[in-house]
Amino acid sequence: MKKFTKIVATVSDRRCDIPFLMQLFENGLNVVRMNSAHLDLTGFRRIVNNTRAVSPAIGILMDTKGPEIRTTTNLDDRTIVINTGDKIDFIGNPAGFTTPTIIYLSYRHIAKDIAPGMHLLIDDGELDFVIDSIDGDVIHATALNEGSLGSRKSVNIPGAKINLPALTDRDRVNIQHAIDLEIDFIAHSFVRRADDVKEIQQILDEHHSPIKIISKIENQEGIDNIDEIIDASYGIMVARGDLGIEIPAERIPAIQSMIIKKCIMAHKPVIVATQMLHSMINNPRPTRAEVSDIANAVNQHTDALMLSGETAYGKYPLEAISTMSRIAREAEKVVDSGNVETHAIEHDRTSFLARQAVASCNVLGTRAILTDSYTGRTARYISSYRATIPTVAICYREPVIRLLALSYGVLPLYQPTEASSREYLLKGLMQLLDSGRLTPDDIIAYLGGSFGEGHGTSFLEINRVSDVMLNYNCYCLPNLEDVVQPMRHD
Ligand code: PEP
Repeated sequence: MKKFTKIVATVSDRRCDIPFLMQLFENGLNVVRMNSAHLDLTGFRRIVNNTRAVSPAIGILMDTKGPEIRTTTNLDDRTIVINTGDKIDFIGNPAGFTTPTIIYLSYRHIAKDIAPGMHLLIDDGELDFVIDSIDGDVIHATALNEGSLGSRKSVNIPGAKINLPALTDRDRVNIQHAIDLEIDFIAHSFVRRADDVKEIQQILDEHHSPIKIISKIENQEGIDNIDEIIDASYGIMVARGDLGIEIPAERIPAIQSMIIKKCIMAHKPVIVATQMLHSMINNPRPTRAEVSDIANAVNQHTDALMLSGETAYGKYPLEAISTMSRIAREAEKVVDSGNVETHAIEHDRTSFLARQAVASCNVLGTRAILTDSYTGRTARYISSYRATIPTVAICYREPVIRLLALSYGVLPLYQPTEASSREYLLKGLMQLLDSGRLTPDDIIAYLGGSFGEGHGTSFLEINRVSDVMLNYNCYCLPNLEDVVQPMRHD
């Protein structure tokens, strides 16, 4: 593995050709993010088809927008220049095209939910307008700084209580597209409580969709209800763009650390997002602060890092992703070796065995942990102990490979044919030997289950690779030929 930390990169339908995605993949891409604020079905389909053509191992995540407000498309999609002191009107009308004098907003009733003196912060706070007065539907405001405004940019109004439902009609349409396109993750914006997640889960369940929900934490309510949200979600995104506007930005480092710790304890993947390499949208090299920000997130044991505009429309997408990969790899070299000591001890067999497998690295010099994986659960548990050696998850279902694209240190290997634990282990080892990742002298730990699918992980095997290979025929792992039921497990 080149790096243990996973990378989510935002991709636009305007730049998603196969050679480009292939280069992103070769430079560290694990999950493609499609931002539904900027895409329709044709765009989604183009990105999904091209991503699948590059590799079935790349996860695909769709970001639904939830109760968020955006500016509309600019007239002729031209960038608008804003100068300090400009008098601009804002109107809630999703069908309007934004011009240099009127900025239209996606939420029709916006004028009812705000008051003079409040600030309209556009594009993650890049542009700041103070509201002077409100006449019916028209909000008169003054620009407090200069900058440029592209189409469909985020709008935050700190202190305003926005009366939008958790799921907009557009979200519902996009969730249907996500189901039809069989993508892997939905990252829902502005999750405020577990019920917001359950509403999406209900739609997915009605369609028997295996899509997993990532909750984006981007306001105080999401932070206040973080435990129940983690419980209801597959994973969490620390969405620092909106979070840094909705609450004072100086609180973000501690909140990020708190959320990462909670996700690790819950064995759930966590993504740190937004402005990680923001300056690389325009420059080929990162700022020193950005390098430290990425290293800090790795030190805090995040599963994944995210790129937004850097790869969606920035001038240096490949430089950005390769820079992020290099910083992550370098930080991983000095990150404390596994967090077995700090992890709470749970009364759970998988957790207990995963913990011992990771601990064996320091005590016995284990070089890799292997597990065969039906749902990815055991691999996620091992991952949560943040071993310094790779966790090789032998997957027999393609979607599981993609789910594990979000989990720290997990290298999924695809083994499509149904076999016994014994065969999975042997085939996995052969792949690792062939690719030079392991040598016959290496010691490996193997986590498996004795009684097939649904019965979970029940044993930990620690052995030298050459011994496993030589003694394969008399090896005592469960074998399909000896057991009547299928030997799938997790
Ligand atoms: C964020 O706010 O950090 C984020 C990831 O969401 P969006 O891209 O929708 O602003």
